[in-house]
Amino acid sequence: MRISADHIFTGADSVEAGRLVIENGIIQEILAPGESDLHLENTLLSCGWVNSHVHLDLSLPRDGDRVPGSFEDWLGSVVQSRRALGEELKEISAKGIEESIAAGTTAVFDIDPEGHVLDAIQYSDLKRVIFREVIALTREDDNSDAWIEFLNGTTDPRRELRALSPHSPYTVHPEILNSLIQLSAKKRLPWAMHIAEAAWERELLDTGTGPGAKFLQRFGADPSEFVRKTNLLKSLGNPEKSSPGLIIHGNHCTTEEMAMIAESGSALVWCPSSHAYFNRPPHPAPQALSQGVPVLLGTDGQISAGHLSMLKEMNSAQKAAPTIPAIDLWRMVTTAPREWLSGLGQSHLLGSGKLQAGDPADLVAVSVPQGSGGVLERALNGKILGCWIDGRVKTWEAPE
Ligand SMILES: [Zn+2]
Repeated sequence: MRISADHIFTGADSVEAGRLVIENGIIQEILAPGESDLHLENTLLSCGWVNSHVHLDLSLPRDGDRVPGSFEDWLGSVVQSRRALGEELKEISAKGIEESIAAGTTAVFDIDPEGHVLDAIQYSDLKRVIFREVIALTREDDNSDAWIEFLNGTTDPRRELRALSPHSPYTVHPEILNSLIQLSAKKRLPWAMHIAEAAWERELLDTGTGPGAKFLQRFGADPSEFVRKTNLLKSLGNPEKSSPGLIIHGNHCTTEEMAMIAESGSALVWCPSSHAYFNRPPHPAPQALSQGVPVLLGTDGQISAGHLSMLKEMNSAQKAAPTIPAIDLWRMVTTAPREWLSGLGQSHLLGSGKLQAGDPADLVAVSVPQGSGGVLERALNGKILGCWIDGRVKTWEAPE
């Protein structure tokens, strides 16, 4: 099959017209414009988008544009909702999977505490890294056997990679956190962790005080056990002890910590819509980019983002940081997450995102409205026309 488009994005500096040749769900080559089976006029064709941080089991409506109370209260209410919904979380996840694909997402890096997403996604074509979320406030919460069993349980290795996500430095006991990170390194697997999301996290890790300490006490844990002698990111940067991971949010990371992230091969995940929902100060993404840190985009749960669309997320990012060029936003959802995964020797899952020979034909087509500005900028206001996974059509809407 040959798909031609007026604009093809390969991650390179310029966007050009061309034709993609696809055979058995794999990209064979890009040719100059010419005869094709499907021609996409005024359309930008790129590899499918990656949502680099999502909790599909929280694909629930958001109440309002801003969080009603404090972040800690919100976090507590999420724990309660999950408990109350129980098995319903499977259906909620399935809805999130459908919505994601309809919005042009062909791969997710999902964090799932109890396996509801895993059940919902097993018959879906959506590609995924499924991180098992670990919350373990005391040494007694160590459940290593179950975590290892989870890692070894993939039945669809062509579409799915399983890994571990210690939830955060304040919800996983430091000894368990170390063993999770080391286990990931031993298995050459990525990890993902919410880091420096709230300002009080540093106070807890430095002195065992502040709102983070109160949060731990509420759940019967001892804050003094969470105090660290060395900077958390410094300890993660040792390649013998840690594989590259996803630093989710990193809202309060310093310039020095950004340098550590860049050096370790890890990536920073920015969730602009959720960030705005929580009224956070400006995200350090522009600073991170200038220091060579790979920045990826995620929605976080729909319950805080209000949607599961990476196109909307690129728009939120542009609004929050207008100095970031459109091409960098496009790379955050296409080539950057794939490069990060390839750095772990896992390029087979999502390919390069550059539409190179051998890449899976995971694609998305977006209309390019008329107007001023370059193609990539205008396409941010476009409409999703089509989405393909392994060359199979998942969404298709004829252009007007
Ligand atoms: Zn999250």
